[in-house]
Amino acid sequence: MNLLKIDDLHASLEGKEILKGLNLEIKPGEIHAIMGPNGSGKSTLSKIIAGHPDYKVTQGSINYEVNFKLRDLLSLEADARAREGIFLAFQYPVEVPGVSNAEFLRAAFNAIVSHQGGEEMDALDFDHYLKEKLRFLEMPLDFINRQVNLDFSGGEKKRNEILQMAILAPRLSILDETDSGLDVDSLRLVANGVNKLKTPENSIVLITHYQRLLEYIVPDVVHVLFEGKIVCSGDKNLALEIEKRGYEHLIN
Ligand code: ADP
Ligand code: MG
Repeated sequence: MNLLKIDDLHASLEGKEILKGLNLEIKPGEIHAIMGPNGSGKSTLSKIIAGHPDYKVTQGSINYEVNFKLRDLLSLEADARAREGIFLAFQYPVEVPGVSNAEFLRAAFNAIVSHQGGEEMDALDFDHYLKEKLRFLEMPLDFINRQVNLDFSGGEKKRNEILQMAILAPRLSILDETDSGLDVDSLRLVANGVNKLKTPENSIVLITHYQRLLEYIVPDVVHVLFEGKIVCSGDKNLALEIEKRGYEHLIN
């Protein structure tokens, strides 16, 4: 059974059609990479899956498995999708001044856990849980007391997204160019984090420009998105081919 199934998705922003008949199927435990030139609609796709209200779906469907049944994802608001385990790591992570990482994460964690029938954690228990995840990800403990993303370096912001992923334990994670702007060491840290968080039940979508990230996180499927559609799919070798020959020959 698919965790996510997208059929003939058409979507527009401010009257301009950006996605033009996109199909995608993701099974539990799979890592998919979505590559493609700038402006092809990769970020648009991720925001639509997460439920960004500015985008209008004009045709097609997105279904997502909840309790072993495919549900119409488009009928759920963004916060409901997050509670069902959909997580989007932004290309440009937002700063939340005045809110500590620990408070922010605990609020998000408790909202998801209580919806899924689990127990909420108080500040003390959550502090233990958070520290355990930081150690697991080999991240400095001071991350949790800092204000969300405020004065974080590019690499720290991206690692903070991975921390959020570890805490919230999403079933579907979409990482939009989490590798962009990272030096090799930060890239390796981010990639190690993602690899550690992979389970047979959860699925990960990596949106990336470069094959470099895919040296560290090996995808099961690689797709090329161009002008609002997936124009070809393959295994990890497709990413190597793109690195060598570019997109041109795949698009035509
Ligand atoms: P990618 O992530 O693949 O680079 P995007 O999904 O960001 O592509 O963009 C797809 C298309 O949507 C592009 O043509 C881009 O110009 C357009 N677009 C993206 N954001 C906006 C916006 N806020 N307003 C108008 N057009 C936008
Ligand atoms: Mg983008």
